[in-house]
Formats: sequence, C-alpha cells, structure tokens
Amino acid sequence: MNLTNRILLAMVAGIALGSIFNAMLNSGGVSESASAILNAYLIDGLFDVVGQIFVASLKLLVVPLVLVSLICGSSALGDSARMGPIAGKTIGFYLFTTGLAVSIALVVATAIGPGQGLSLVTDTEFTAKAAPALKDVIVNIFPTNPVKAMAEANMLQIIVFALLFGYAMSHAGEPGQRLAGFFRDAEGVVMRMVALLMEFAPYGVFALLARLFSSMGLGAILDLAGYFFTLAGLLVFHGFVVYPILLRLIGGVSPASLLQKMRPVWAFAFSTSSSGATIPVTLRTVEKRLGVHNSVAGFTVPLGATINMDGTAIMQGVATIFIAQVYGVDLSAGALFGVVLTAILASIGTAGVPGVGLITLALVLEQAGLPVEGIALIIGVDRLLDMLRTVINVTGDAVASVVVAKSEGQLDMDVYCATAEQLDECEVRAS
Ligand code: ASP
Repeated sequence: MNLTNRILLAMVAGIALGSIFNAMLNSGGVSESASAILNAYLIDGLFDVVGQIFVASLKLLVVPLVLVSLICGSSALGDSARMGPIAGKTIGFYLFTTGLAVSIALVVATAIGPGQGLSLVTDTEFTAKAAPALKDVIVNIFPTNPVKAMAEANMLQIIVFALLFGYAMSHAGEPGQRLAGFFRDAEGVVMRMVALLMEFAPYGVFALLARLFSSMGLGAILDLAGYFFTLAGLLVFHGFVVYPILLRLIGGVSPASLLQKMRPVWAFAFSTSSSGATIPVTLRTVEKRLGVHNSVAGFTVPLGATINMDGTAIMQGVATIFIAQVYGVDLSAGALFGVVLTAILASIGTAGVPGVGLITLALVLEQAGLPVEGIALIIGVDRLLDMLRTVINVTGDAVASVVVAKSEGQLDMDVYCATAEQLDECEVRAS
C-alpha cells in the first residue's frame, strides 16, 4: 500500500478505535480498574507518547526547513527582482481569500440561522486573553536577534531574516555562490528528513487520533448541531468549491491534481490541528508534488501557515452570527463589515497552533459589541472543528502557492499534472 493510503487508513483506524474506547469508557460497561488501565497504559500512555513524539518531530523540522528553503528561494530570486511582486501577490491573495471566506460565512450563517431561537446556558467560563495591538504585531515582524527568532520558532521573523540573507547571498559574488551551494545541499538533506518522518506518519496520526477521539465528548455536537453542521458544511464548501474555482479562474490550472495530492497533508493538519506543525509536509508537497519552485513555496507556505487562516475566518464568521442570535443581538451592516476586517487582521498576528482561532474570536466579538463569554457556548465542539478548519487553512496555503507560482512562471506543469502514483514511482526510483 502506498504511503498516502497508509496514512489515510491510519486516520480512519485511529478515529474508529478512539470512538470505540470513548463509548466503552462512557457507557459504564467496563469495570473501573479496566478503564483505569486502559487510560493509564494505552490512551494516556502509549498513544500519548507516540503522538507527542510525532508532533515534536514535525515541529523539529519546521525552523531548519523554512530557513534553508527560503534562503535558497530568495537567493534564486535575488537577481530577478521578482521578490516584491511575489510578496505582494501572495499577501494580496491571502487577504482576499480570508475576506471572502468570512464574508461567505456571514451571509450563509445569517440565512441559515443556526442560533435562532436557542436559549443556551453554559457553566463553562471563558476569559479572553488580551489581543496583541496591531502596532506590536507589525513591529514584531522585524527580528532583533535571528537566533532568538529561531529558538522561539517565530515564523514571520524567520521569514524576514531568511529573505534578507538570501537576497544578500545572491549579491555577494563568489562567497555568496559557495554558500548558496551549501544551503541547496542542506535543503535536500532536510527534505530527506521530512520524507523519513512521513514514513512514521501512519503511527503518529493513528496515535494522535485514537487518543483524541477516546476523550472527545462528541455528545455536545447534538446540542449544537446547527452551529456544527453550518460551519462544517461551509468548510467543505470552501475547500471543494471556492478553492477549485479560484484555481481554475485565477490560476488557470486544474484543481483535481491539487486536491488529490493534498490528502496526506490533510491527515497531518487534521491530526495535529496545527498549520505551523504541518509546514514541513505542506512545503514538501507544494514543492515536490505540486511543482511550485522553492523561490515561491519557501515564502508562501511558512507565511501562509502564519497569516492565512481561511478555515479559522469561516469559524469566526459563523460563531459571530451564532452568538449574536443566541443573545438576540441584531448586527448592523457596519458591524458585519467590522467583523470581516477584524477576522482578517486577527488571522495575521497569530501563529497556526491548536485552538488559536477561539482566542482571536474574542477580538472579533468585542469589535462587534457581542459578549465575549459567548465563546463558552461553542467551546464544547471546538476541538473537532479546529481539526477541520486547520485542513482548510493548509489547503489555502497550497492554493495560494500554486496560483502565485503559476503567475510568475514558477510552476512546473509536468509535476503539477503528474498523478500522485507517477510521482511516487519517480521518488522510489530516485532513492
Ligand atoms: N488550529 C488552527 C491552525 O493551526 C488555528 C485555529 O483556527 O485555531 O491553523
């Protein structure tokens, strides 16, 4: 069986086993000592250990990979003065898709009315964390110390440093050339590490999902069915309708190839709930399987994992309407427009880590004059929705990479159009 199928199978098996454990533990059909053993040795033992090691190994590769890939990419671009247009197009596309995502979410959620007539009470407390000021977000993009930026895995700062370094390298004559060779080799080696880690992915994905689903209270979905299914439906719509249209209309490429090759990345995004931790796999897929040159992918993917969160924006749109309806507040057109702007800004300043969307939702609600405690209403089902929206977030990064690369003549159409099986075969032969 090929790797993609093994990962997908592991995903299904993890969800199934986790759900069975969940049912067993909650039905009372298992004796107390048996469930204690199950919890201690398997769920919080083996599964947790394997899952944590898997996520740690992914995170381990993020900084080295982004650094070397972006240095290679920007030094390749250094001479051609394309850096500015690529950055402009990428950021423009990210803002546009996020704005589109939240706008569609607001319109559809208003039409469906998931919170209409509900009077929910909750005893869950939610205290909003203070949101960073926009000014600080902008100033913080610029690193004072590259080592600190790397130690903290601060993606935007690493991007700025790598861009400058790569640019300077391409303008540094002979020494720059020598160093460029070193970074190209290093990129090849780190990519190989990602490939190795992917072999371990079926076990990691299985362990993460089995653990998560054994403790996930899915019962809450029934109480919040309107909210849950409106949001899940919109996420699917964005992934399978909006992105394909954008790929076709703006990128001029067939969406089927991207959707097929992104499946392993989805499994990583779904099981880790973190676009940041998924960067190595997204980057590898976008470069090696979608054919985006690393001068574009090295920039678009890490930037997207940080500033582009379409799935999160959709959640914030639906959650705003849902909370407004539950609290019986009518939102004016001005307030809705404010929601769109805040959702876009909120996604820029926060990294792609689990649950961050709920924290920035506080910003959006505050801006719309809604009670922030409303977040407590939806917290119960957020874990699963976080997994789903992270899938959309990483897909958006890949779509932008392809669209920008195509417009810059940096998309290898032979690779893009090749089927996943053909690429697998090439890889096997190459190694
Ligand atoms: N978990 C999401 C991500 O990493 C962010 C969020 O919506 O919470 O992309």
